[in-house]
Amino acid sequence: MEIVKDNQNNLAQEQADFKEANERLYKQNLELAVRNKTLSLLRQLYQISILTLEPNILVGKLAETIQKAFEFELVAFFSLDEKEDSLLPMQFAQSSRWESASVATKIPFLNFPIKGALHTNVLKNKKMVHTENISDIWPNITFATALTEFQHQVNVRGLLEYPLIVGGGVFGVVVFALNRKYEDMIQFEKESIDSFIDVIAIALDRSRLYQQLQIANKDLAVSNDRLKELDQLKSEFLSFASHQIRSPLTAIGGYTSMLLEGDYGEMPEKIRDSVKVIDTSSQSLIKIVNEFLDISRIEQGRMKYEVVDFDAKNLTEEVVVELRPNVEKKGLTLEFSADAGDYAVSSDMGKIKQVIGNVIDNSIKYTPHGSVKVHVERRADKILISITDTGIGISKEDIPKLFSKFTRAKDANKTNVSGTGLGLYVAKQMLEALHGKIWVESPGQGKGSTFFIELRGKK
Ligand code: ADP
Repeated sequence: MEIVKDNQNNLAQEQADFKEANERLYKQNLELAVRNKTLSLLRQLYQISILTLEPNILVGKLAETIQKAFEFELVAFFSLDEKEDSLLPMQFAQSSRWESASVATKIPFLNFPIKGALHTNVLKNKKMVHTENISDIWPNITFATALTEFQHQVNVRGLLEYPLIVGGGVFGVVVFALNRKYEDMIQFEKESIDSFIDVIAIALDRSRLYQQLQIANKDLAVSNDRLKELDQLKSEFLSFASHQIRSPLTAIGGYTSMLLEGDYGEMPEKIRDSVKVIDTSSQSLIKIVNEFLDISRIEQGRMKYEVVDFDAKNLTEEVVVELRPNVEKKGLTLEFSADAGDYAVSSDMGKIKQVIGNVIDNSIKYTPHGSVKVHVERRADKILISITDTGIGISKEDIPKLFSKFTRAKDANKTNVSGTGLGLYVAKQMLEALHGKIWVESPGQGKGSTFFIELRGKK
């Protein structure tokens, strides 16, 4: 008898253990299923966030994916309109039950802004709230009885409302409606919802940045167009004004040289000195006007290049010979040397002569004493003309700026007051159009500089 009782006890204990183990297994299985679902949902949400940047579309896709994966009755996104103190419906993903019940009861969930949003707990505390009544989320949407009937039809038993915090501010809220109470959800389920709220916030943040970028891009494009227009107007004005100035200047220049050459007879020394001043001033004005004309031609794409065959070494020597008187006047020495070799090029001879002349002229201008050495050499298929002076040199910081428009080195005024900072810009633009290059090297201020002009040798 004792034995039978013992056996019965053992059986009951085993059954209880078995039941407990079964329940534990069931719970673990459930958790595993939620975990799997959450992981796959997170992956999907992440993919959506990468592929979609427009906020409304993004939110629509997120809502739809979450609703389907968790079989919620509703996933509803609202954006906050702070001025109106309202939550505006953005995108809703609803179960067929929710959809048909809202059609039948004519409750306007989809276009009903929720007023007084800033005073709701979810936005005041920036924390999730949950409730069992739809009327807590949508107060005043319809008669209380209609809403209760609706809730009953859809079997909504729990509603969760999460704040969406994006870029440090409130973007809006997302509402989930489900057939269970919040309290009946397993812990892991609650945590997984928290984790995809984080993913949603990150996705929205990306899309917010993208939108800001779009707006900034649009603004930039508008300013850019305006700038181009202004630049065009400026170039046209520059070109017009320079043309108008050039003719009278040419007349002044012509008559002053005739005066100086004695075409109108001998001049008293005093007058001659004044006429010489008129002559140099009009020459430097003509130079500036020509630079302005070059710039407006370059910038309007009207600069014409005439390519001919010539010898770069002979051309450089020619420039040196022409400028020698200027050098000697200043008490400097000017040397010219060239390696033996082939210096044939196909390029615009006039423009190349202008560039070489400009660079040598600069070396004379910015060298108070010492020498200017011009050397021509062949390097593989390139021809290199270097102009080395013992002048004021150029600081490291100034070097990259010199070839920009209207740019002069800090101390350029000390040596030469009348510069415009245009010559090297024009030289660079012309050379680049002719497949050449120009650059400068200098050991520093007071230590001289070497300008290099590189041309493409004729093949
Ligand atoms: P600018 O009319 O002022 O001479 P450029 O465009 O020809 O205009 O030259 C730009 C600036 O480059 C000059 O203002 C000067 O500061 C610097 N520069 C040009 N050549 C030399 C040189 N040989 N030595 C030192 N500085 C120079």
